Amino acid sequence: MLLTPRTTASGPKALRTPRVAAALIAATVSAALVAASAPSPATPLGIGDRLFPHLGNPGYDVASYDIAFTYRGDNRKPLDAVTKIEAEATASLDRVNLDFAHGTVRSVEMNGRRARFEKSGEDLVVTPPAPVEQGDRMQITVHHTSDPEYAKGTQGGWVRTDDGLAMANQADAAHLVFPCNDHPADKAEFRFRITAPKGYTAVANGLPVGTTRHGGATTWAYRHHHPMATELAQVSIGRSTVLRRQGPHGLPVRDVVPTKDRKAVEPWLKKTPDQIGWLEKKVGRYPFEVYGVLIAGAKTGYELETQTLSLFERELFTRPEYPAWYVESIMVHELAHQWFGDSVSPRSWSDLWLNEGHATWYEALYAEEKAKKPLTDRMRAAYGQSDSWRAAGGPPAWPKAPAPGKKISIFRPVVYDGSALVLYALRQEIGHRAFERLERDWVRTHRDGNAETADFVRLASEIAGRDLSGFFDGWLYGKKTPPMPGHPDWNSGK
Ligand SMILES: [Zn+2]
Repeated sequence: MLLTPRTTASGPKALRTPRVAAALIAATVSAALVAASAPSPATPLGIGDRLFPHLGNPGYDVASYDIAFTYRGDNRKPLDAVTKIEAEATASLDRVNLDFAHGTVRSVEMNGRRARFEKSGEDLVVTPPAPVEQGDRMQITVHHTSDPEYAKGTQGGWVRTDDGLAMANQADAAHLVFPCNDHPADKAEFRFRITAPKGYTAVANGLPVGTTRHGGATTWAYRHHHPMATELAQVSIGRSTVLRRQGPHGLPVRDVVPTKDRKAVEPWLKKTPDQIGWLEKKVGRYPFEVYGVLIAGAKTGYELETQTLSLFERELFTRPEYPAWYVESIMVHELAHQWFGDSVSPRSWSDLWLNEGHATWYEALYAEEKAKKPLTDRMRAAYGQSDSWRAAGGPPAWPKAPAPGKKISIFRPVVYDGSALVLYALRQEIGHRAFERLERDWVRTHRDGNAETADFVRLASEIAGRDLSGFFDGWLYGKKTPPMPGHPDWNSGK
């Protein structure tokens, strides 16, 4: 049985640290080499995420992305794009590695000067035209294409819809759309400018900051005022209508829907303000300046909590066999992610259970309160499957690596109901009042930041007034599901 990873010398942390150190050493060593002799070869780097070792890059911290896309009306053709990255160097760098694996790079400028670049693995490796020291500000401008066409059988960031494009970058596909530091540990502010032909509407995360018309095209500009992970970026281009309404305390709510479907989906969309109010009662104020639902005419097979504008496939709202309570609880799942996963982002992908466990928890709680679907029944059923989920996908906080070529396969039952079950066990263990306080304190303490499993264990222990690390070790890292507090009769092997 593993201990909480960040607090043990021989457990999972030991596996994690050398990778980060090695990457940093590689950057330092190559800086030394370049001073002494010829430039070092460009090599792909990562920040050492256990599940996605190639994601992210050491040596800098991105402050903002400013991304311009030009769409010409054909969702099979590459878009022209310009990505401007403002970052601060956290080490001396003779190379700056960005993640970018799909699309053509035309030119790179750094701090106003032309910079050399090459592709290496899934990285775009830029050679700064002047030395970069720790603490230096870097402005990197990449002129590139953004290609919505992917090799057969592979998953990309762009989703082709009936009438344009939407984005679904989770977990590791943002760098198939734009150059970036593609790991949720490096959140940044985002601005978008999207140019599209007449008849199209473009919407992105955050609020609009203006539109300009030129010839037959319009440029739509958006800005989001909170830090965001690259995996949560959203750009929708389509023959869409933007529906506006008001949420609690004047919160702007805007939904983006295919114009032809607007009447059919309205009965669902008008439920959002009350859902926000319901969640605010549970966990506190909605964390961003705007929310809304993006409905895509596409068969994605999933919904996605893209920040301030969650992505839903149209069929969820149009297929008659889905009961109303089910559709609404899925809407609440994505909405809950705005607190859990978006505002509070995972430090590494092994912390995914904190995203999905909480979103599933509020999805199930909503179904209990609004549709009389008892949470305990659902948790009892989950308990019955928990051991087999753990065997298939690993324990909740130490999931198995994604299957080769199937990167979203980390989204397994163990991180959904299998992790909501951990929260249920915790509530059984510490009581409703302490649990509810924990939830509110968690999203307030880590708002707009990153947090990891050890932070959750620490806060829960603080609120319960006793050390819960033994309790969490079993529930988060055990091969077998521990006995359920208060339900000694529950059987985890059936
Ligand atoms: Zn989710």
